[in-house]
Amino acid sequence: MIAYQDPNHEGNSPKHHNGKLCIEKGCQNPAGTAWSHLWCFKHNVERMDRINKSLAAIELRMLAKDIRPTGGACGQTFFGDEE
Ligand SMILES: [Zn+2]
Repeated sequence: MIAYQDPNHEGNSPKHHNGKLCIEKGCQNPAGTAWSHLWCFKHNVERMDRINKSLAAIELRMLAKDIRPTGGACGQTFFGDEE
């Protein structure tokens, strides 16, 4: 399990609570984890998951670009003739 997703991880312990409520609308949980002081544990996980997903998508696109030839004689791409 990834640390920020683990409710028993030290980074999610109450010592990180900042005495305020999570900034997510309507959420009554105490805010503050090792990863952000603005969100509660649950909403921090959702936020980090979203970030990880979009970063992974960006990374894949960058990787695809890097291994794609920039033109020239080769003509063969790793993925075939997509796009
Ligand atoms: Zn929350």
